[in-house]
Amino acid sequence: MTELERLAAEIAECQKCPLARGRSHTVPGEGPADARLLFIGEAPGFHEDRLGRPFVGAAGQFLQELLSSIGLTREQVYICNVIKCRPPNNRDPLPQEIEACRPFLDRQIELIKPRIIVTLGRFSMARYFPNASITQIHGRAKKIGDILYLPLFHPAAALHQPRYKAAIEQDFLKIPGLLKQMGVAEEDHSDEQPRQLSLF
Ligand code: URA
Repeated sequence: MTELERLAAEIAECQKCPLARGRSHTVPGEGPADARLLFIGEAPGFHEDRLGRPFVGAAGQFLQELLSSIGLTREQVYICNVIKCRPPNNRDPLPQEIEACRPFLDRQIELIKPRIIVTLGRFSMARYFPNASITQIHGRAKKIGDILYLPLFHPAAALHQPRYKAAIEQDFLKIPGLLKQMGVAEEDHSDEQPRQLSLF
């Protein structure tokens, strides 16, 4: 068992907050254990709770399209959430739920050691940009220590708001340049797909 698998098993047993009672599955996150690019969403929704996988509904479909717009697939990146269990009726996560889950997300980041963390929506943004307004800071990367943080709108919000959709599409296009800046990407010319990015 890898450390990440051990952590996922621990998350599956978690009873630290009342969300444990309503879940079908925990949704720890998924992706390569050494992913250079890590996305943090908000919380599992209906489909994620059913399958135990992050971003598998409409927002996930859009996230996949955004990744494809920069030559990446979801298998190349790590995708997880601030909280690992679905809140009832997809309500916003409560502060005590975020606190209860915080050690799990901290541990994931410690193990994966990504070079870039993309926050999706307000709740993951608040970890790194406290008191900031997403409408003001979206798309503006900030380096703290060895990691570059890029705050983006949440794809689910963007799906319903044309303004946010245009913004997240534009902001996503900054990722390849940021990956190169962090020394973790190059164009892959092997399959004649000029927009294919390879991460290493
Ligand atoms: N929205 C999120 O924030 N996370 C998911 O996993 C799915 C939808």
